[in-house]
Amino acid sequence: LKPVHVIGGGLAGSEAAWQIASAGVPVVLHEMRRDEPSGPVRTEAHHTDGLAEMVCSNSFRSDDWQFNAVGLLHAEMRRLDSLILSAADQHQVPAGGALAVDRDGFSAEVTRRLQAHPLVTIQREEIAGLPPEDWDNVVVATGPLTSPALADAILDLSGEGQLSFFDAIAPIIHLDSIDMDVAWRQSRYDKEGPGGDAAAYINLPMNKAEYEAFVDALIAGPKAEFKDWEHVPYFDGCLPIEVMAERGRETLRHGPMKPVGLTNPRDPLVKSYAIVQLRQDNALGTLWNMVGFQTKLKHGAQAEVFRMIPGLKDAQFARLGGLHRNTFINSPRLLDRSLRMKLAPRLRFAGQMTGVEGYVESAATGLLAGRFAAADRLGQTLEAPPATTALGALVEHVTGGHIPGEIEGGKTSFQPMNINYGLLPPMEAPKTGEDGVKIPLKERGRAKKRLMSLRALADLDAWRQA
Ligand code: FAD
Repeated sequence: LKPVHVIGGGLAGSEAAWQIASAGVPVVLHEMRRDEPSGPVRTEAHHTDGLAEMVCSNSFRSDDWQFNAVGLLHAEMRRLDSLILSAADQHQVPAGGALAVDRDGFSAEVTRRLQAHPLVTIQREEIAGLPPEDWDNVVVATGPLTSPALADAILDLSGEGQLSFFDAIAPIIHLDSIDMDVAWRQSRYDKEGPGGDAAAYINLPMNKAEYEAFVDALIAGPKAEFKDWEHVPYFDGCLPIEVMAERGRETLRHGPMKPVGLTNPRDPLVKSYAIVQLRQDNALGTLWNMVGFQTKLKHGAQAEVFRMIPGLKDAQFARLGGLHRNTFINSPRLLDRSLRMKLAPRLRFAGQMTGVEGYVESAATGLLAGRFAAADRLGQTLEAPPATTALGALVEHVTGGHIPGEIEGGKTSFQPMNINYGLLPPMEAPKTGEDGVKIPLKERGRAKKRLMSLRALADLDAWRQA
């Protein structure tokens, strides 16, 4: 069999390569990150040459399949032999109800499993333009930081203008520089994680005066400038902390610094005005990231402003936050339901480039693109999973999630999106219990999610068997 080519060994490309090889089809994975005698080749955000490097947070978010759409996506991917989920399960660190991992152990595991597979060849090279004509079955999974030469070629081919927006990453702190006489460990609402740990997070409390001074410093701090980017909008799911602060003095207290569900054991009767949370970032538990603290403050200013947080006076930063570009194509116009480019069907897209958002969603589209590509090579037809599944809903969003008039009129409102129940066809939950008593709205909402999750897994199983 002629090999399928996968370009990009990130979250999506690694999963795609795994799925292709698992189907018995040879695959060549082309990844540009490598170490040269002249120095390392990396993107603006990647620090290693490991496959499936997680560039910012170390979390795959909620692992709760019954009530959380990303947890449901995890469950679906596990049923389809996902390499990313299996390596994540193996390298999990405590994180309340979330699936967080030791990023180095996780990436090393993905790299090892792909290297060991007899049908996988890994080539360390940049594909700097459209792939050679004789590659008849290609998965492009080069991510939000696709190298400019390839991005330009694809955009030329598509006849579209570039679609980009700002994204930002959060700092990481060394544990031994955190003052644990000020901080305490607790998960919000004492929610237990997979390891039974209800004290997964480190919490740093602020009173009103400290919060006000902190907001002032965030707003006043010098920001990194991005001259070529001034016209590019922020993506709402990943707003820099100082931009949130600018939107209103209370915004942070209602967002990443919300004080609810947490009690300071040293002062249990006094409610903190705001709380900063840190999440474990590596298996050893020596590194902790600042949850929701993505920022474009200049590096010097970051250290100064974040050391104002009680407990972080002497904080040492293993990595500071930063800002990056995000590249994605206009998928509703360009891709068919099997993620192939309509204008050039030999090219299939996966990952963040298709306009999904997040590690899990990227890996999920990689999983599907890999299965589609393998089926093509084997002369089989494979339909996308039904839109009632989280996987199917993602395909639906990127290939059909648009307002038809806007597409025809040449405009699109297409924006990257995390998986959420709003992308799945709705279901109704009973309004009253067996006793005839009305069920409160919040409870009904939860019941609805559970019903949708159960439907998704049943429909996925039926699709898998068919
Ligand atoms: P990537 O994982 O980036 O993989 C793409 C790969 O392609 C890279 O290894 C790259 O080196 C390679 N490549 C690029 N061009 C070429 C070429 N021409 N030839 C060969 N190889 C090439 N998501 C979250 O869920 N949580 C977060 O905290 C988060 N933070 C982010 C922070 C940053 C700075 C960025 C950029 C994105 C972040 N995202 C986050 C979004 C997204 O989930 C990740 O970018 C995710 O890694 C996307 O997966 P991917 O496979 O599409 O791309």
